[in-house]
Amino acid sequence: MGNEIWRRFHGDLIADVVATWPSAYKVVISDARLGIIRELPKVYARLEAAKAAADEGVRRRFSHKCRMDSCDGWLLWSV
Ligand SMILES: [Zn+2]
Repeated sequence: MGNEIWRRFHGDLIADVVATWPSAYKVVISDARLGIIRELPKVYARLEAAKAAADEGVRRRFSHKCRMDSCDGWLLWSV
C-alpha cells in the first residue's frame, strides 16, 4: 500500500505533498540538483492548504520565483 503523493516541479526544485493518513498531508520540498530534502514540520488537514504551503516553502526556502516556463502544475505522482 503506497501513499498518495502530489508533486509539482519548480524547475530543479520539487514540491511534494504526501498523504500520511486520511485527511492529513505533509509537505516535503527538495532541490534535486543539490540533493537537499526538507520536510516541513506542520501537517495539513486539507490537500489544497498543503499544496499552497509546499509552493510557498519552495519559494521561501530556496529563494525561488515562479515562472510560467519552468513551473508546471500539480501532478498526482503516486497512489
Ligand atoms: Zn515555481
